[in-house]
Amino acid sequence: MGTSSRSSTSSPPGAEDARVHSAVHLLKGAVTRVIGPRRVTFAGPGVLRVRSDAPVSTQEAGKVEAAANRKVAEDVEVLEFEMERQEAEMHFGTGIYDLAAPPEPGAHIRLVKIEGWDVSCCPCSHVETTGSVGAVRVDSVAFEERTREALFRFHLL
Ligand SMILES: [Zn+2]
Repeated sequence: MGTSSRSSTSSPPGAEDARVHSAVHLLKGAVTRVIGPRRVTFAGPGVLRVRSDAPVSTQEAGKVEAAANRKVAEDVEVLEFEMERQEAEMHFGTGIYDLAAPPEPGAHIRLVKIEGWDVSCCPCSHVETTGSVGAVRVDSVAFEERTREALFRFHLL
């Protein structure tokens, strides 16, 4: 799909990271649809922090998982491109900085876009299409009163 300069189709080093990072973008888009726009940050392997005033129910977490997996099934392209910072903010809002801190003004930033789902500033590697992520499982969701965040624990099959 699309043009690619990659010469190998076998799993390159870091392929697992690419899957996980792509899953984070899928889950962020899913949270936006199921719970509403929230600050979603990646807190290390298998943990996503979602800003929330109230606990997220296991039913809602299940819907988030289902929404992410629908996008996996659609196998849409994961686009990576650069854009001037201010222009990117005008187009996509400052929610793009959930997964990476904003750079200095005037800088070009690297955006990762899943069409109709999520646009985030992110320096990491990603899969080329969402189908390569495989199945996403949300194992649990717990509310952290101190930070007002719901902690989603997830893994990929
Ligand atoms: Zn990413």
